[in-house]
Amino acid sequence: MAGEAQTRGGGCQCGRVRFEAEGTPIWVAHCHCADCRKATAAALATYAGFLREKVRFPAGQPADYPSSPGVTRRFCPDCGTPISFESERWPEETHLFVCTFDDPESFEPQGHVYVSEQLSWLHLGDDLPRNQKTS
Ligand SMILES: [Zn+2]
Ligand SMILES: [Zn+2]
Repeated sequence: MAGEAQTRGGGCQCGRVRFEAEGTPIWVAHCHCADCRKATAAALATYAGFLREKVRFPAGQPADYPSSPGVTRRFCPDCGTPISFESERWPEETHLFVCTFDDPESFEPQGHVYVSEQLSWLHLGDDLPRNQKTS
């Protein structure tokens, strides 16, 4: 709905950490980089980028660590679910994981990033734009 601020909720697997993101994501994309693979233990990570000011943590305080210079990754201190990615490269954005939202179906990925690092055995049938790095 145009002009209507939608709020989406999500959280970690054990339920301790909850987050809310208001409005439409700036972008939704699959990341194939090796850092995201390690941080999520998955072949790729699907993110929704939101304005940082639109993301709240109504319950539970996530823990965090610097996964590389200028990058902060948050996670649930109890169950370990990855919660967010923030980088000095995009100081106004918080990147949340689509699959930790309560309704991951409500997101529509628009493309792939870091396909230069994609695993060779991962074969995907979509025809979304594929970026070697971030653009
Ligand atoms: Zn948890
Ligand atoms: Zn990545």
